[in-house]
Amino acid sequence: MARKKKPKQRPQVGMLGKELTRRSRGRCELCESKADVRAYELAPFPDEPDPERTLMACARCRQWMESDTIDPVQAHFLSSAVWAEVPPVKLAAARLLIAHEDLDDPWLRDAIDAADVDPVTLEFR
Ligand SMILES: [Zn+2]
Repeated sequence: MARKKKPKQRPQVGMLGKELTRRSRGRCELCESKADVRAYELAPFPDEPDPERTLMACARCRQWMESDTIDPVQAHFLSSAVWAEVPPVKLAAARLLIAHEDLDDPWLRDAIDAADVDPVTLEFR
């Protein structure tokens, strides 16, 4: 499915560094990896970086978000991430699952339903 090109991550997101590090404890908020964890803003970007639209993500998860692809074998952690209490984590997980949507995978469907994210607008319902 063709999707709009994603805006480039912007350096201003660094201003959220402290707050995000405290929230994530330095781990990827999607999969809990500590590998090259950095802030990742979810499009569309607000004027100023907002912790409610930003999550800490490891190299693999950032790459998945950039390319809208996941490796379904590695991606079962997303079905727990959709239950996260932090809205951007929940939203990022749901967007990845929606991008991958595959009706043969019942756990994907259940996880998307749990996140309550609209598959067209890619925002919370
Ligand atoms: Zn990760």
